[in-house]
Amino acid sequence: MTDAETLFERIIAGEIPSEKVYETETTFAFRDIHPQARVHVLVVPKKRHRNVAELAAADPQLLADMLTTAAKVAELEGIAESGYRVVFNTDSDAGQTVFHVHAHVLGGEQLGFFGR
Ligand code: AMP
Repeated sequence: MTDAETLFERIIAGEIPSEKVYETETTFAFRDIHPQARVHVLVVPKKRHRNVAELAAADPQLLADMLTTAAKVAELEGIAESGYRVVFNTDSDAGQTVFHVHAHVLGGEQLGFFGR
């Protein structure tokens, strides 16, 4: 396993410092170290799956838990009403760099169009 693969497990375990926003029995939410919007929080399941497709196939309830946590994060960050985006980068063309599935919760400002 590479460092990139273990990074989020070490953050969840508290071995690498992070700015925690919210936590449940099955999920952990913390601020992205390189924010791409005024609010940029990562939501990860405590149990590692490589990407959202593998998580959806293996444990749909855990995927639902992630989305419930993302909604709670939006509420806590005060962006539930103004709107926000939830992004799952999946493998190389999408630029996934950490192979422990994570949802980016982005908002707090008008977000631009994305694609290329
Ligand atoms: P992705 O490119 O979708 O795999 O997203 C990985 C995200 O993890 C990037 O947005 C990084 O900025 C973020 N990241 C990497 N290391 C850390 C860290 N130590 N603490 C918080 N976020 C991190």
